[in-house]
Amino acid sequence: MAGAVGPASESQHAVSEIVVKESEGGPAMVRPPVASPDAAVELREVSKAFGKIHAVKGVSLQIGQNEFFSLLGPSGCGKTTILRMIGGFEQPTKGLVYLNGRVVNHVPPYRRDTNLIFQHLALFSHLDVFDNIAFGLRMKGLDGRAVRQKVLAALELVDLAGFESRRITQLSGGQKQRVAIARALVNEPSVLLLDEPLGALDLRLRMQMQEELKEIRHRVGTTFIYVTHDQTEALTMSDRIAVMRDGLVVQVGTGREVYGAPRTRFVATFLGDSNLLEARVTAAGSGAVIVEGADGQIQATPHTDVRPGGDFFVSVRPEHVQVWHPDEVDPGIENRLEVRVREVTFKGAFTEYRLVTRSGQALIAHLPAGPRRALVPGDAAVAAWRRDDCVVLTG
Ligand code: ATP
Repeated sequence: MAGAVGPASESQHAVSEIVVKESEGGPAMVRPPVASPDAAVELREVSKAFGKIHAVKGVSLQIGQNEFFSLLGPSGCGKTTILRMIGGFEQPTKGLVYLNGRVVNHVPPYRRDTNLIFQHLALFSHLDVFDNIAFGLRMKGLDGRAVRQKVLAALELVDLAGFESRRITQLSGGQKQRVAIARALVNEPSVLLLDEPLGALDLRLRMQMQEELKEIRHRVGTTFIYVTHDQTEALTMSDRIAVMRDGLVVQVGTGREVYGAPRTRFVATFLGDSNLLEARVTAAGSGAVIVEGADGQIQATPHTDVRPGGDFFVSVRPEHVQVWHPDEVDPGIENRLEVRVREVTFKGAFTEYRLVTRSGQALIAHLPAGPRRALVPGDAAVAAWRRDDCVVLTG
């Protein structure tokens, strides 16, 4: 099915309808577009409506083989709906879902090469660890010896060798989590779907499990698709992140890309703190743009296609803002604004400076402890940051 090309003008809805007929055994008049050859999972213009609620709006994504891919966004933005469509628990209203090159819109969950792990793990509390993990294998009709071999290997994988006969009720939260992962991995899915699986754990355990999941992922050749609303978790674990808002994917990239070069105000502020300054672009070249704001000129990096004359916001992360005494400024730093220090707060790993520019714009700087002269509230100072750390946003 994946080898044929459909007409480019065919609407996705129409393509989807014809795929229905094909899967029902009828004649296939139009075939879906070819899947990307290297993608484990691909979504083409996928939408999902629940009555009047448009949960997912024309999302296209390609997720590579063995990639750790996260869907990140605030509550209700459509992350779980996308995951459930990949797993086959929901059907798209429009568009195509491919698994390993094959359209699976109408393939039921149990016939897909995927496994879903929920936040509420749904382990069988009346069974021991071994039987929980063995359950799916026995349903498939594997013989006892093969079941034992696979269950023990899965327990080894999640560092729970020797726990076979423990009751689920005798396990810690993290151990239960690992049993759920073993139960999913024992079926050797090509795609593992994880819906906020660490959401119920306390912070310390959550961080420990993030590291363990990363290690498990490196040991198995499986694509992980991970849903979270926690930006730190997404940055910690993912090869790439799709940032979602209101049913749309607004940016896709590595953690460094989406954090370091956000395209919109939403991405800049959802992933960490950001100083946003409103400005008009006065000159744009290939290496830099000059923007004119309320406090004068700022040089920024043109990560996006910006033209002179437009009004934009520029974003600079607090950790990239340096704060100097007026007589000590490093002249090599492109951007310098006169500011007054409003507040200084020691935060452990860094000190937070709340600043205000001459025009009244607020700025936040996070500075590591260092040998420089201390600044106190009321001091005149200079806030400085490099052009490369300053991004023009387009939305
Ligand atoms: P959260 O982080 O809170 O789980 P999410 O980003 O995963 O949110 P979804 O669960 O995908 O969001 O929901 C997206 C939208 O679709 C929400 O407005 C939700 O209320 C709605 N929705 C989801 N499932 C259904 C359903 N079965 N019937 C009606 N509306 C639904």
